[in-house]
Amino acid sequence: AKDNVRGSFYEYEDSLESEAKNNLIIQTLLKQAITNNELEVHYQPQVNANGKLFGAEALVRWPNSPQGPISPAVFVPIAEQSGLIHKLGDWVFERCIEQLTVWHNNNQFDGHLSINVSAWQFALPGFVERTTERIKRSNLPISYFCIELTETGLLSDIGDTVNKLKQLRTFGLKIALDDFGTGYSSLAYLQQLPLDILKIDKLFVDELETNATSSLASTMISMSHQMKLDVVAEGVETAQQVDALEALKCDIYQGYHFAKPMPAVEFIEWTHRYTT
Ligand code: C2E
Ligand code: CA
Ligand code: CA
Ligand code: CA
Repeated sequence: AKDNVRGSFYEYEDSLESEAKNNLIIQTLLKQAITNNELEVHYQPQVNANGKLFGAEALVRWPNSPQGPISPAVFVPIAEQSGLIHKLGDWVFERCIEQLTVWHNNNQFDGHLSINVSAWQFALPGFVERTTERIKRSNLPISYFCIELTETGLLSDIGDTVNKLKQLRTFGLKIALDDFGTGYSSLAYLQQLPLDILKIDKLFVDELETNATSSLASTMISMSHQMKLDVVAEGVETAQQVDALEALKCDIYQGYHFAKPMPAVEFIEWTHRYTT
């Protein structure tokens, strides 16, 4: 009799249940992976319109989980749901400071390192103080540091957000708005935010293959320049997209057309090849 009642609804419930179970497993494994230093940070180059290196984006990797490599697109949201994001975010930040210290001491890097900060980290009281303290303690030039935030994290309490961003920028930290165009925020809202950089999502870069001048990217770039912001195009994969973005006066380029995210050593080797 039991078998007769099993329809698609029950199968759907089962799959939700197994997904929840797997998330719980990933959560437990991730906690151990952070503690045991099993995560890595890879670096993806960002280049200027003039052909010089602008810097890099730091992207976390989990190469050897017991389930094989897991994408941050999967485990970062799980970390956010479970509160583990603070531990993860701290680990990434410390790792970036260690790496920057090595590069700085060896004169290997002179650019901006863009670190992703989750909305949950930004919202936690004391974020500004902890971040500035950490950077001060590192004794590194503040010019190395940029943080990437998404709209989700910025618009819940606009007054509080503006305060925090002002403090961070007064300290000298650069602020980038990530995934621009994928959220719901209006222009009027964005104009209230003290930002330095706007990152146009890959979605709009892909569109450039066909209609560059009438594209949303075109509007976003000219609007950003009116607001005195630099624009990073994300997910640039083709020479055609580069040409279109150059015509639109885009400032900074990032994507597989230039390089994929790489381990630190490979990244530095890449910068040597790129600038010589
Ligand atoms: P994101 O911040 O939007 O990062 C850009 C993503 O696009 C990265 O995926 C990058 O590898 C990928 N990408 C770069 N160029 C290209 C391209 O030309 N084509 C394509 N198809 N993809 C490209 P990744 O590394 O898998 O990261 C996914 C997301 O995970 C990130 O999206 C970010 O939201 C999150 N994430 C990664 N590392 C961190 C971290 O350290 N902290 C936090 N809070 N989130 C992170
Ligand atoms: Ca990012
Ligand atoms: Ca992005
Ligand atoms: Ca994204």
